[in-house]
Amino acid sequence: MHRRLFLKAGSLAALAQFVNMSGLSALEALERHLSPSARMPVLFIGHGSPMNAIEDNAFHRSWQQLGKTLPRPQAILSISAHWITQGTKVTGNVKPKTIHDFGGFPRELFEAQYPAPGAPELAKETTLLVNSTHVTSDETWGLDHGTWSVLLPMYPAADIPVYQLSLDYGQPTAYHYEIGKQLNKLRDKGVLIIGSGNLVHNLMKVDWSGGNKVYDWAAEFDAKMTEWINKGDHKSILDYQKILGNTATMAHPTYDHLLPLFYILGLQQKGEQVSYFNDQFQMGSISMRSLQIA
Ligand code: ZN
Repeated sequence: MHRRLFLKAGSLAALAQFVNMSGLSALEALERHLSPSARMPVLFIGHGSPMNAIEDNAFHRSWQQLGKTLPRPQAILSISAHWITQGTKVTGNVKPKTIHDFGGFPRELFEAQYPAPGAPELAKETTLLVNSTHVTSDETWGLDHGTWSVLLPMYPAADIPVYQLSLDYGQPTAYHYEIGKQLNKLRDKGVLIIGSGNLVHNLMKVDWSGGNKVYDWAAEFDAKMTEWINKGDHKSILDYQKILGNTATMAHPTYDHLLPLFYILGLQQKGEQVSYFNDQFQMGSISMRSLQIA
């Protein structure tokens, strides 16, 4: 075991040196490093309440089903609404910790762990793949609930390596979309890329009554985004604030939960179809609508 780990670390160092010395592109390095696999779909998952991680409800069950039906990934890259940074980072940890980044929930949720291994080699290669900005490696973060609340039902064995890409909140929508485009090659290497957020997300307006009421502005924003996604009109999506004005502000008073969508749409290739699941609202102001692109 030690020897294998040592060899792996050694091969990465050799790879890095080879890239530096030969001017080999990040793409070529990636080609050499990962075994070929069937092209992976990409997902945007509405994660909603952290309780969906452990509660037996329709969303939880759909994630369980997804894990059983998707081609098995070699690794997972999660772009979570809950990791906001200055600059763009990837987690380079060997053993990422489970982060309970919420308050006021039952102890059972705080005791939940997702001990998946990290993917430090893949993280390093991901920093090389993106050239529109300088992506750096980080070892202070781990897996936040945007990532593990969804992966716990999807892949309960936690035996697939997982790493995260952060969101540089202050950047324009096109910045995120462009990075998404550059991650495309990972899909051919068995990496499942998941954007985890919500298509509509206004916590101030959450309806705790348990009813089925959906706010008009929430339904309108959800419908408009869906229409643009169906038309492949990414330009309007990137301009959503200008076009939708107050409706956009109500749907996303802060837009952290929408940002992961831009990466996922940037990954959509010509001719690829979008299918939807969990197209319902949770607590009136959170759209759980999720996308699979393949
Ligand atoms: Zn969230």
